[in-house]
Amino acid sequence: MSENGDNRERVFRGIAASEGVCQGKLIVLHKPDDDVPHRTISQDEISDEIKRFEKALAQTRQDIREVQEKVSSAMDANEAGIFDAHLLVLEDPSLIDEAIRVLKKDTVNIEQAFHRALEKYTATLAAVDDAYLRERVSDMRDVGARVMDNLTGRNNEDFLDALTEPAIVVCHEMPPSVTASLGDKEVLGIATDIGGTTSHTAIMARSLGIPAVSGLVDISQRVATGDFALLDGYTGTVTVDPCEQTQFEYGLLIRRKQDLAEKLDELRDKPATTLDGHRITLSANIEHPSDAQLVKEYGGEGVGLFRTEYLFIHRDTLPSEEEQFEAYARVARELKPSPVIIRTLDLGGDKFMSHLRVPEEMNPFLGWRAIRFCLEEQEIFRAQLRAILRASVHGDVRMMYPMISGVGEMDQANALVEECKAELRSEGLDFNPDIEIGAMIEIPSAVMVADNLAKRAKFFSIGTNDLIQYSLAVDRMNEKIAHLYRPTHPAIMTFVRMTIEASARNGGWTGVCGEMAHDPTLAVLLLGLGAEELSVAAPSIPKIKYLIRNLDLGAARKLAAEALQCESAAEILEKATEFAKQSLPDLYTEAD
Ligand code: PEP
Ligand code: MG
Repeated sequence: MSENGDNRERVFRGIAASEGVCQGKLIVLHKPDDDVPHRTISQDEISDEIKRFEKALAQTRQDIREVQEKVSSAMDANEAGIFDAHLLVLEDPSLIDEAIRVLKKDTVNIEQAFHRALEKYTATLAAVDDAYLRERVSDMRDVGARVMDNLTGRNNEDFLDALTEPAIVVCHEMPPSVTASLGDKEVLGIATDIGGTTSHTAIMARSLGIPAVSGLVDISQRVATGDFALLDGYTGTVTVDPCEQTQFEYGLLIRRKQDLAEKLDELRDKPATTLDGHRITLSANIEHPSDAQLVKEYGGEGVGLFRTEYLFIHRDTLPSEEEQFEAYARVARELKPSPVIIRTLDLGGDKFMSHLRVPEEMNPFLGWRAIRFCLEEQEIFRAQLRAILRASVHGDVRMMYPMISGVGEMDQANALVEECKAELRSEGLDFNPDIEIGAMIEIPSAVMVADNLAKRAKFFSIGTNDLIQYSLAVDRMNEKIAHLYRPTHPAIMTFVRMTIEASARNGGWTGVCGEMAHDPTLAVLLLGLGAEELSVAAPSIPKIKYLIRNLDLGAARKLAAEALQCESAAEILEKATEFAKQSLPDLYTEAD
């Protein structure tokens, strides 16, 4: 953070997570468990507090049983046992007695007493040299959070309830399930302590066209609700109490961006063809069926990535096959005859279902995620495959699997698709038997066996967000190492090229649906390397269409060939930036 002269302006620098500029009042949101209510009570209130506690424990028991019933059909006995362990925590007299002892001794409200008891108890367990007991710590924290929700009457879904007027939301971290409900709220901008440019919260903000800055370290502790601020999602800064000069400069910037937006709007119905006549497919990444409308508004050619996991999170039950079928068919119908590529479920990493309590993992991005989860949770996977197949007669529906690491997963998934087709046939339900199936290329091992994968997939879609994360061993969520997350690293250039060559050798095609595609400088490199499709958040389509229509692909190919000879990420970025600024000066401001 920096202070500017005698004026009160304070500038916080973070990572530009979603483009755009906004100004307004800040609202600082804390997760319910961040601020445990604290109140001193009188002796007379003790029995009422104990009654409240008993009521919250009973309610928590009921909640856990309900969730257990809802998900038991989708889990095996071992996993459903998690809930039994949670119920046992609630029966544990030592925790409950300790909370009541603290309540009486410290004469504080029960939330505070329970919090103190839980902290003491979990700290003791965590210190014991016994793996089983240490595992109980996460059960206790889970159950503790539920009890606290019931005591305070708040829960995660209420996270945004404090937002009653348009404001810039500041928080430590915004879970994707919460970001998913932002579209219904008047959020001017988002500023978070943690996260990078490819966290799912940043991706969602871009889809919604909400400016966002992440990786601001401790902004949630250093600003207060009601402060006035300017958030710049281009440079990744938040300026609190901006001085007149800063406001004036931002006024100019906003006007320039508006002029550009108007110019880009004229391209909506024009094709994405380069100056030298190459037709590129420019499609959209969507998260909700209702986003199909946005794809049309921004002039996209169908959907290159439908992140279906948003149908699964932020709710208490699994979506049925029927509900999924309706969602997929709706998008297919609305965008017909353009293609709609539905990605099968990619849960895990930073996206979880609140009701499917998957065990906590040390490295969720390297863990039980995406196709790995689906190949084990076959009931969930089959319902989705059947829904996609059934939707395939309503438009040009295609599908792709996330996180493929080798041919084994591809073969297993394809075999399940064949089984689902046979089932549908015997049930007399319609589907497109020739539905195109592709693989996402997001893991270095997949690149290395891309020829073999290409024999099993009609197309590849490169998920650069994960490909960069896994190739460079840089957690895409961790702002501390965000400077190491280098899309122009020579290894990434080579991986992209190898993938494209392998699919071409086998008669397939390759697109890119990672966030690299929405950055004009990087998009030039991807096109030069041979990407035939770019899929970006709908609001980024006009900008990338403008780029394509003003690009000489022959020159971009030369640039890519040079990049493949370079030794450092910085050198490649410099060459690409120079090229893009020369070809497309309008897309850049002096600050870029
Ligand atoms: C990617 O990894 O680039 C991708 C598009 O998938 P996601 O961001 O949903 O992991
Ligand atoms: Mg991915």
